[in-house]
Amino acid sequence: MAKISDNPLDSARKQLRAAAAILKIEPKVLAVLSEPKNELTDDIPVKMDDGETEYFNSFRIQHNDALGPYKGGIRFGSDVSMDEVKALAMWMTWKTALVGIPFGGAKGGIICDPKKFSQAELERLSRGYVQQYVDSIGPHKDIPAPDMYTNAQIMAWMLDEYEKLTGRHAPGAFTGKPVELGGIGSRESATGYGGFVAVQQVAKLLKLKPKSTTVAIQGFGNVGHHAAQFLFDAGYKIVALSDSQGAIYNKKGLNPAAAMTCKLEKGMIAECYYAGSVVNGSKSGVIKNEELLELGVDILMPAALESQITAKNANSIKAKVVVELANGPTTPEADRILQQKKIKVVPDVLANSGGVIGSYFEWVQNNYGYYWADDEVHDKLSKLVTAAFAKAVAKSREHNADIRTGAYLLAVSRVARAIGLRRGI
Ligand code: GLU
Repeated sequence: MAKISDNPLDSARKQLRAAAAILKIEPKVLAVLSEPKNELTDDIPVKMDDGETEYFNSFRIQHNDALGPYKGGIRFGSDVSMDEVKALAMWMTWKTALVGIPFGGAKGGIICDPKKFSQAELERLSRGYVQQYVDSIGPHKDIPAPDMYTNAQIMAWMLDEYEKLTGRHAPGAFTGKPVELGGIGSRESATGYGGFVAVQQVAKLLKLKPKSTTVAIQGFGNVGHHAAQFLFDAGYKIVALSDSQGAIYNKKGLNPAAAMTCKLEKGMIAECYYAGSVVNGSKSGVIKNEELLELGVDILMPAALESQITAKNANSIKAKVVVELANGPTTPEADRILQQKKIKVVPDVLANSGGVIGSYFEWVQNNYGYYWADDEVHDKLSKLVTAAFAKAVAKSREHNADIRTGAYLLAVSRVARAIGLRRGI
């Protein structure tokens, strides 16, 4: 029996091997796909406000660029690791290939606790990252974007540093920028919007009506918050929300906008269970983060970290559908258990592809220097996610498999074919 592991890189490799076996991928090509093309890592020196210089370990992992320039976010966090960033880079390769945008896959990270940084320190850290990797980044080379604990302001500092160092304007070198620097208004909500489109598609497939469909969302950051709002506006019943410090549950439904206002005020969502406008009722309560995952809801959306649904808790999952807004929230062992329990999983590479699709539209506009009306973005994004969903479901049926397998078969075969064509294999 395969080893049980919650290491995201083990998960990513197992998923690739499973698809490669079905596709009978050439061993030489599989070897290329199994490892990142470039593993860049270095310490970034940052002068802290107290005058001391501290060093922060950082990464830029470029997994594959057969279909286009490397693409993927940069995350900050104390738990960031080389293996995590390698897995995330590989998942970006499949995500961009699946939705058919001309990018490869990459990811970056800095091991640090961003909550402890002042704005000035954060700026020096962000600029330091670019100084470290300037030669490997570029609009046609590798295009970073925000991820966990990074945002438009950080992209602005990074772009500014990049342009200073290279001596030319290059807005397409980073996406997720502020609008004033060539960003697009809807980029911040793009991942959440794509997740909403994925829910609409799976709801259609399973004949679920929004009004009677309950949703629990783990993670109330940028992605989870926007997804909750789009779902709420479309009539879905959001019954549980969480952040890293706790969760709230109300079977009558929660209002995400009121929950966000309360969270900003109190600092944590668990403090918001009693806010009348948030929970509208008495059957509300604070629950543990683990309990949120095990609620008897129609749709469970993990929107936080990797490896949340594992062999340990998969048997207790009661949702009808899991829509993966986070990257890698379900381990391969848990995936098998969910399949046995006939729980449908809309995989991360599909469900959270809205972010990088938004980035793609931003990059196209930067390259042309011509900017579209904002509402065009949602419309175009929705079409790409809907098309990828339909193709992944059709492929999964062809192989009598789950949607993840369908998505992987499409994505891995596209990248493998591009490598084969380039190398004459
Ligand atoms: N960080 C996002 C993701 O994991 C977006 C990446 C991008 O826009 O390049 O998909």
